[in-house]
Amino acid sequence: MLITRLPNACHHHPGFVYQGARLLEAENTIEVDVRPRRGSRPICSACGKRGSGYDTQPVRRFEFIPVWGFAVVLLYAMRRVDCRSCDVKVEQVPGGIDKHTLCKAYMVFLAQWARRLSWRETAMAFRTSWEKVFHAVEWVVEWGLAQRELVSLRAIGVDEIQYGRGRQYLSLVYQIDAGITRLLWVGKERTTASFQCFFDLIGKPLAEGIAFVCSGMWKPYLKLIEQNCPNALNILDRFHVVASVNKAIDEVRANEARRMQQEGYEPVLKKTRWLVLKRSEHVTGQQRGRLRELLKYNLKTVRACCSRRTSRSSGSTCHPPGPADSSMRGARR
Ligand SMILES: [Zn+2]
Repeated sequence: MLITRLPNACHHHPGFVYQGARLLEAENTIEVDVRPRRGSRPICSACGKRGSGYDTQPVRRFEFIPVWGFAVVLLYAMRRVDCRSCDVKVEQVPGGIDKHTLCKAYMVFLAQWARRLSWRETAMAFRTSWEKVFHAVEWVVEWGLAQRELVSLRAIGVDEIQYGRGRQYLSLVYQIDAGITRLLWVGKERTTASFQCFFDLIGKPLAEGIAFVCSGMWKPYLKLIEQNCPNALNILDRFHVVASVNKAIDEVRANEARRMQQEGYEPVLKKTRWLVLKRSEHVTGQQRGRLRELLKYNLKTVRACCSRRTSRSSGSTCHPPGPADSSMRGARR
């Protein structure tokens, strides 16, 4: 089998021919010559119309998907088109070649691997550079954003992640509709100004059509969601609710332990921090006995733990559109 059968089978474009291939063993590279099919007229890259050939540029090298551990390079001399509408322009090469010297098929290939490996590892595995992996991912992301449709947007999730050193955050918005879960937007910093950019991006009609928003409990975000999505049911993320409740219980426990010590009572709350914060299904046999002991006392800490269990069994925390302040008070109670 001729090596040129491979690109012909996976990367065939009418109007172009894989003419021949050579193996350069010293460089671990397969070079494939590409030429225009006889009689095919070049396409103008500006207007997309066919025109007559003007001249041919020097041969350029375009990286293609590696095979059997060899780098594959396509060699092609791009033509210039004498276009009636746009004057002389470089030809458009369908689905094949980009300004970054990587074939589009190779960029998609690299971007798919860059989802599984780090960009550095991807570059090392396919003997290319980090910059080229970056350009491949950038090109695929730009293509995806240009094709993206948001008409089905009904439910979004809002979250933030910390990165780097110190308190540096990114704001994230996901689409969480049934059957479509995807990252929609990443904003620098966790500020209302940056989050507002998301609503500016999708526009008012789309924002007003959102029916569900799942978010944390950060007050400025709750207000912004309420302003931009007046028809949405805001569901507080369970993780954030549990974290806030646990923080409140811990404060109650610490204050009560301090007070009991000052008033000379038996230090029954000493070393019970993780015991009271633990989920009941994770409590071990010995800890269960300790908890039973605590229940004998009429302590604020015990009552706080009991109300947490009640709130857990009542399920997720939703609140309809309304003042963000009241929802915060409700969640902290
Ligand atoms: Zn043109």
